[in-house]
Amino acid sequence: MAAPSCIFCKIIRQEIPSAIIKENQAAIAIKDISPRAPVHYLIIPKIHIESVAHMSDTEATVAAQMLILARDIAADAGIVGFNLITNNGASAGQSVMHMHVHFLAGKDIYEHGLSL
Ligand SMILES: [Zn+2]
Repeated sequence: MAAPSCIFCKIIRQEIPSAIIKENQAAIAIKDISPRAPVHYLIIPKIHIESVAHMSDTEATVAAQMLILARDIAADAGIVGFNLITNNGASAGQSVMHMHVHFLAGKDIYEHGLSL
């Protein structure tokens, strides 16, 4: 299930050091090494899933744990406004092919015209 050369799998196996913010049974949150907001964490499942598009129905429980981890990080830090973004596929900006959610806070991500 783990991918030997995957950088996020290496972080999960602690073969590469990272600044772990918080973790639960299914996911870890680390600081993004190239932050795009005052708070920018990556929430990464502990099992290798390439993207949401590759996730099985059974693995969707991991996605729920990723959201729970985001909720708990926000609660711990007293963050009331945050964005969760997941890029799926290279054409959508995914740069590491191991599913992850960007946790962003302290920045208006809509300032340049994006509107959802
Ligand atoms: Zn991986």
